[in-house]
Amino acid sequence: MDIKSVGVVGAGQMGNGIAHVMALAGYDVVINDLSPDALERAIALITKNLDRQVSREKISAEARDQALSRIVSSTELEAVADTDLIIEAATEREDVKNKIFETLVPKLQDHTILTSNTSSISITRLASGTDRPEKFMGFHFMNPVPVMQLVELIRGIATDQDTYESCLAVVQNLGKTAASAEDFPAFIVNRILIPMINEACYTLYEGVGNVKSIDMAMKLGANHPMGPLELADFIGLDTCLAIMNVLHEGLADTKYRPCPLLTKYVEAGWLGRKTQRGFYDYRGETPVPTR
Ligand code: NAD
Repeated sequence: MDIKSVGVVGAGQMGNGIAHVMALAGYDVVINDLSPDALERAIALITKNLDRQVSREKISAEARDQALSRIVSSTELEAVADTDLIIEAATEREDVKNKIFETLVPKLQDHTILTSNTSSISITRLASGTDRPEKFMGFHFMNPVPVMQLVELIRGIATDQDTYESCLAVVQNLGKTAASAEDFPAFIVNRILIPMINEACYTLYEGVGNVKSIDMAMKLGANHPMGPLELADFIGLDTCLAIMNVLHEGLADTKYRPCPLLTKYVEAGWLGRKTQRGFYDYRGETPVPTR
């Protein structure tokens, strides 16, 4: 199927990046969020990030202007219903995602492909609540979307080959690389990455190291570009916790139990960069470790 237009539901960290790369690749984009503020912030951020690409001579000023002109934003979920491909990138909660699909389904065109950018929730389960499990997939971008090369494509049990190939063609059009993953909790990248972050939280919780020493140890000792706690703040601690809970429940193995300290940070509303505080405090000029 030839995809020309893309609907993005959720204009947070991921939704704005997805709208950015899609518009730059020539797709007409409709981006939706419940919150008008989130939409305003998303458009401002897309503009800023495109401007940066122009100043670094990665794209022309004309490409930036065309990309921006392809993006329409709306607080009405129905606004995305007429697109060929819908990528749901709302909060990582199954009830939120199910409600979005439930509202959208009666308004969709027959050919529309539904996808979710979920980091961990079962694609098969999300698909089963819709009228088109064969046209439903996981379309999992990495953060930050304009920079990261990989997209995981996750087939649910019913996903058909045409849907997979249409999504693969989109990934290739974006100039990105797809990794196919089976539909098991957290797929490939987060199955490996988030338990490592959770282990870093236990290392902190048990006093083996402090925030600074843990991050430095993994940067200099394992050649990671970011320390695990810095990375957790970047991803969002609520998202990290949600993924650990999905692994814990979905695989029924105690080795995936979320670290109580991670839970405590989330309960405090210290969710990382997006709330200006997490394992680091970002309110000053340089990030300051909170432990
Ligand atoms: P975020 O908290 O930055 O943004 C979520 C947005 O969804 C918010 O703006 C919120 O207002 C909006 N929203 C909530 N309910 C909605 C609804 N019913 N309709 C429309 N909008 C709604 O979260 P994020 O980091 O962008 O994550 C979004 C999705 O992407 C999650 O499923 C997450 O697991 C996944 N993901 C996140 C990362 C990451 O590093 N943060 C990476 C890959 C995938």
